[in-house]
Amino acid sequence: MRSVLVGPPGAGKGTQAVLLAKELGVPHISTGEMLRESIASGSELGKRVKAITEAGNLVPDGTMIDIIAGRLSKSDAALGFILDGFPRTVAQAEALKVLLEKKDMPIDVVVAFVVPEDILLGRIQSRAKAGGGRADDNLEVAAKRLKVYWEQTAPVISFYRDSGLLVEIDGLGTIDEVRVRLDKAVRSRKGVKIKQ
Ligand code: ADP
Repeated sequence: MRSVLVGPPGAGKGTQAVLLAKELGVPHISTGEMLRESIASGSELGKRVKAITEAGNLVPDGTMIDIIAGRLSKSDAALGFILDGFPRTVAQAEALKVLLEKKDMPIDVVVAFVVPEDILLGRIQSRAKAGGGRADDNLEVAAKRLKVYWEQTAPVISFYRDSGLLVEIDGLGTIDEVRVRLDKAVRSRKGVKIKQ
């Protein structure tokens, strides 16, 4: 099962991605996490990524495509995968398509989390207030990230709608409620075996 989760910052897709990956027995590939590891390593790339993400901007497509190509060439990706945070631009979606066509590993489903903007801001605010949060969780940056989302990532949803891969789910509700919807969305695709 190869799936992609798309949704605005604060939509809760990271939490759901972890749960779904366990259920399906496939790796959870989060570009946000990979970038945070790169920052923590203190490498040259990490330093550049830190400045970009702290400003609420997107890391350049070329860098992201290289990172994801490297990750998808690892042997565990043959089991399937859940992509969380990639693609975030139409250019990334197009590059992913070419990459996966070459590997004969097409995407089975793309699930988009639908959450109204005012609720997203509220969630990000409380995450910031809870303290000890990520450096990119302060309000100004959060607002910037939302803006970038609508401008650059929302078109990815139309891209996958046009490919017939898209399933939209309501992202409001408890973690369990959303999990049930996500499960249903994934199961709606042919040949999906859920690990018991
Ligand atoms: P979220 O809180 O939305 O789940 P992530 O943890 O996925 O955020 O990503 C954190 C930051 O890393 C993003 O705001 C962005 O700057 C950068 N990033 C992650 N994935 C990508 C990507 N595919 N393309 C460009 N930048 C990315």
